[in-house]
Amino acid sequence: MSDGFDEVFDWVVVGSGAGAFSSALVMLKAKRSVVVLEKTALAGGTTAKSGGVMWIPNNRFMREEGVPDSTEAAMTYLDALQALDGGVAPGSTPDKRLAYVTQAPRAVDFLVEQGVALERGPRFYPDYYDELPGSCKTSRTVVAKPFNLKELGPLHDKLRPGFAPFHAKLVEGMEAGHSRTNPKAKRILARIAFRTVIDKLLGRKFTTAGAALQGRMLKAALAAGVDLRLDTPVDGLIIEDGSARGVTTLRDGKPWRIGARLGVLINAGGFGHNQEMRDKYLPGTRADWSQTPEGDTGDMHLELERIGGSLAQMDQMVGFPITPSPGYEKRYVMPNVQGSVAKPHAILVDQSGVRYMNEGGSYELFCETMLKRGKTVPAVPSYGVFDSQYTALYKISDRFIDKGVPAEWLSAGYIKQADTIEDLAAQLSIDPATLAATVARWNGFIANGRDEDFARGERQFDNCGFMGDPFSEASSLGTVARAPFFAVPVVPGDVSTYGGVVTNPDGLVVKADGSVIHGLYATGTTTASVMGNVYAGAGSSIGPSMTFGYIAARHAAGINEAA
Ligand SMILES: Cc1cc2nc3c(=O)[nH]c(=O)nc-3n(C[C@H](O)[C@H](O)[C@H](O)COP(=O)(O)OP(=O)(O)OC[C@H]3O[C@@H](n4cnc5c(N)ncnc54)[C@H](O)[C@@H]3O)c2cc1C
Repeated sequence: MSDGFDEVFDWVVVGSGAGAFSSALVMLKAKRSVVVLEKTALAGGTTAKSGGVMWIPNNRFMREEGVPDSTEAAMTYLDALQALDGGVAPGSTPDKRLAYVTQAPRAVDFLVEQGVALERGPRFYPDYYDELPGSCKTSRTVVAKPFNLKELGPLHDKLRPGFAPFHAKLVEGMEAGHSRTNPKAKRILARIAFRTVIDKLLGRKFTTAGAALQGRMLKAALAAGVDLRLDTPVDGLIIEDGSARGVTTLRDGKPWRIGARLGVLINAGGFGHNQEMRDKYLPGTRADWSQTPEGDTGDMHLELERIGGSLAQMDQMVGFPITPSPGYEKRYVMPNVQGSVAKPHAILVDQSGVRYMNEGGSYELFCETMLKRGKTVPAVPSYGVFDSQYTALYKISDRFIDKGVPAEWLSAGYIKQADTIEDLAAQLSIDPATLAATVARWNGFIANGRDEDFARGERQFDNCGFMGDPFSEASSLGTVARAPFFAVPVVPGDVSTYGGVVTNPDGLVVKADGSVIHGLYATGTTTASVMGNVYAGAGSSIGPSMTFGYIAARHAAGINEAA
């Protein structure tokens, strides 16, 4: 260890994502000192804001419920996904996928042993390509149990807020969200309201989803002695003789050097808010369509590249389509539009009025398909087309409009409304005959019970509560036939970027020549995803971030399988 450090820890973590805390817990259990350096004023990153779902095949909760799964099945599925995509993703080598599939359920067991209360996610949350071999048609998801932020003591207001300010589980949100077709929705909403009243009376502040996951891991890490520093941006990595020695940061506005005895873990998120990097790697996408928090600026991507780390899969993002309704950019969570266009009585068309994808399925694939389409036919924005059967049952941009369209939507020109499809087309500058033919073709498919163009509804995932409507017989198919008709723009937003530095199965950073930088680990969206260029199922970002944090810390601490 070189001299000249202001202080030294065993394990130095850059960023406070999902892997930061799982790795900290491993190190702290091994009696090692840990500092987590977070650049923003809040801990938890995009993970805290998120749904908090982790994709964990063969997990303990599936076993407890007798749901069949295995390492082999999960590997078969992930291998099939890579083959589907052409199999060229340096971050997703077969040995790394195997490390993930093997270690992810162990990491969950470990967290539970450390007092992090987890449970099975929604029981009907199928893999996103459930037509492939090895897929799971129910759910491989794991989530945290709701968490009372007050348990964080003085840090209770230092965790990044979750995406939903309610004491409601994800599954309740999915079910109650179908308020006009699910007969149980009112009861669920009443249950949530009752909980909220009780919480208020008892002085509790419950959070769920990603904030509950990060809150629970942070609580366990604080109890075990983690040193968490907020407002502490890392601006450099100290590499000597091919090994990571520490990082440079600021303390009280002055340069500060922190040494690392066992290693440095980079868990600093992606580059959602760096428009320059987006223009270079994800052209045609915009930072103000990204739902990532302000800290997601790719600092560590640039630093890892500077020190020789190999970047890959940089043209990938976890796409998540949004509709830019007036004021969308000021909302903490932007309006999810795929859960609208994938429902019955709705379709998506490009600017020529042609349907070009299954509106259901993976949101990552949805946005990728839109961007690809845009290379040959103008498709950004595309348009969601709805009829009044739709608006009688479901929301657009989180609002019911059957009793009247918000005046500001009309005055801003955001929504188009017409009594005929031809009129709607004219307002969108689309050839009326083309849009009318698209809608007629769709309605013909509905009459025959099958989407012959894109097989919408044939995947289980298309019909789950996040996409279609499991409470309606139509599920995800329904005619667009009853006036008035509506159209809104749809753009390829994201909930993360998905490419970064290549790591090996131990989580070590890999250089262009294939060698590793000793003592330098990375996880999460700072890395080239182990899922490759595909999103396997809900939790395909947080599951790997948490797991490779666990793997990296065990490797750095020299903990073997038996330990
Ligand atoms: C609304 C929403 C719902 C989502 N739901 C899910 C879901 O259910 N499941 C799922 O898998 N994915 C989900 N995602 C995506 C997922 O949240 C992210 O991909 C994931 O959380 C990224 O985690 P991470 O561990 O890589 O980093 P993050 O959780 O983003 O943490 C990185 C941290 O590093 C900090 N940082 C950055 N640079 C520096 C620096 N130089 N020095 C110090 N700190 C730095 C950042 O400020 C940030 O706090 C969702 C996203 C959103 C927005």
